[in-house]
Amino acid sequence: MKMKLPNKIGKFDIYGGKFAPEVLMPALEELESGFRKFINDEEFQNELNYYLREFAGRPTPLYYAKNLTEKLGGAKIYLKREDLVHGGAHKLNNTLGQALLAKKMGKKRIIAETGAGQHGVATAMAASALGLECEIYMGEEDVERQKLNVFRIELLGAKVIPVKSGSKTLKDAINEALRDWLANVDDTYYLIGSVVGPHPYPMIVREFQRVIGRETKKEILRKEEKLPDIIFACVGGGSNAMGIFYDFLREDVRLIGVEAGGKGIRTGKHGATLYAGTDGVLHGMYTKLLQDKYGQISESYSIAAGLDYPGVGPELAYLLRKRRLEVLYATDEQALKAFMELSENEGIIPALEPCHALYHAFRFAGKMNGDDIIIVNLSGRGDKDVFVVAKELGVEL
Ligand SMILES: *Cc1c(COP(=O)(O)O)cnc(C)c1O
Repeated sequence: MKMKLPNKIGKFDIYGGKFAPEVLMPALEELESGFRKFINDEEFQNELNYYLREFAGRPTPLYYAKNLTEKLGGAKIYLKREDLVHGGAHKLNNTLGQALLAKKMGKKRIIAETGAGQHGVATAMAASALGLECEIYMGEEDVERQKLNVFRIELLGAKVIPVKSGSKTLKDAINEALRDWLANVDDTYYLIGSVVGPHPYPMIVREFQRVIGRETKKEILRKEEKLPDIIFACVGGGSNAMGIFYDFLREDVRLIGVEAGGKGIRTGKHGATLYAGTDGVLHGMYTKLLQDKYGQISESYSIAAGLDYPGVGPELAYLLRKRRLEVLYATDEQALKAFMELSENEGIIPALEPCHALYHAFRFAGKMNGDDIIIVNLSGRGDKDVFVVAKELGVEL
């Protein structure tokens, strides 16, 4: 395995790259040189660590799930508690990092695009804390569907711009955000929410999410004096997965990414891009995609909004190709089962996204030995999902 990827042109072997219009290249180059300058700067690191500690609440615990471990009777299960990060998910690690980078690069304004609204909220939080202007592009359909997150974004002092073009959803919001960035690149920073997009974004987001894996490694060595046997993480765009996996890539630890199986792979209603996708270009990167034989992007689906994306980070596609990463999927139904299991037995209501990873972690644990260790990245808390779960259970609130 190569030590330092992506390479100079932003490739992870065949994946990644910079499939962006010519006019965007100067902005991407300015971003890369800004990132390379500040990521090794002591003052930048001190300031970022200050916000991660005092504002975001890091380090997060590595919690021993004693009740489920005993119930399942196999491997010890640990949960990396990203649900306890301010805002309720790992997303703030990245938005804080990039917002601080924007500020250091002399930008006054942050723009972002959001589908379900979670990344919009996390971006607005970071921008507010760092005193930056913030505007969030959102398809008009999504604005209507996600009223609560629109209100949250506005409460945080940011502005939501509804996008009326095309299908009025995420992909149209991405187009509008790119247009804005091009027109205002002098004072504006475009903040991407996962390890996706043209180089250098997949690298930047990975570096800001690596704090998850770094803390996990230190803490498991302190608690167990050895590394885990398996780490599980759910995969949407792939940022919480790359974040926890990266510092274990060169260790003898199995890394398993779990995607959204939705209503089943054969129904076509799923988000299992690594499992069922094929190679192509989307959003500035060469990666695995859900597409038809003509290269038209298929619509993805998942009960978990964060996993509902037809692409995936190029580094994950690369790790799968190199067989360093294993990929599984869990259906909506299986994720719900894990949701109930964790809530009832451990006193933690998880977001539906990491329930996909939990499902397989529980299944594996029962077949393993008492001195084996499993870690699951619990990427977020479930407050945002209780209405969806109630509906699935036929409970009227
Ligand atoms: C957004 C989100 C995800 C999916 O994003 P990744 O980039 O794949 O990590 C997973 N879990 C939670 C809780 C989320 O909010």
